[in-house]
Amino acid sequence: MEIEALRSFVYRVAAMVDRNEKVIKEAAMVKLLRSETYNRVADKALQIHGGICYISEYPIERFYRDARITRIYEGTSEIQKNIIAAQLQRNYKRGRE
Ligand SMILES: Cc1cc2nc3c(=O)[nH]c(=O)nc-3n(C[C@H](O)[C@H](O)[C@H](O)COP(=O)(O)OP(=O)(O)OC[C@H]3O[C@@H](n4cnc5c(N)ncnc54)[C@H](O)[C@@H]3O)c2cc1C
Repeated sequence: MEIEALRSFVYRVAAMVDRNEKVIKEAAMVKLLRSETYNRVADKALQIHGGICYISEYPIERFYRDARITRIYEGTSEIQKNIIAAQLQRNYKRGRE
């Protein structure tokens, strides 16, 4: 469910890019949501399969490990939140002017 919701959002932002629209806020939202979703999904996958998938013989261990770094590289989740907040603040100020 979360992956499908994320997929729809990614397509919406990609369509905005195709229309040459500004996507500073939306790009940060996609990156943040994608990283956080990936981590939740990887965590659930490991939990469903139990201890066997914690060991390196199974691909879920790698999936789980790879998920973690996405919250750090290419702009950490906290930095994406800063970008989103700054953009919302800017839009709010513009709306008041
Ligand atoms: C496997 C791997 C591959 C990488 N590949 C690349 C690459 O190809 N190209 C590249 O340029 N870099 C790459 N990096 C570096 C990556 O982009 C940085 O690790 C990332 O930007 C975070 O910087 P940092 O590790 O110095 O953490 P720091 O900046 O020290 O941050 C530490 C923590 O503090 C938080 N934080 C920092 N500043 C703020 C703030 N203003 N507000 C709120 N929270 C804040 C962060 O969110 C984080 O949780 C890679 C890193 C790894 C581990």
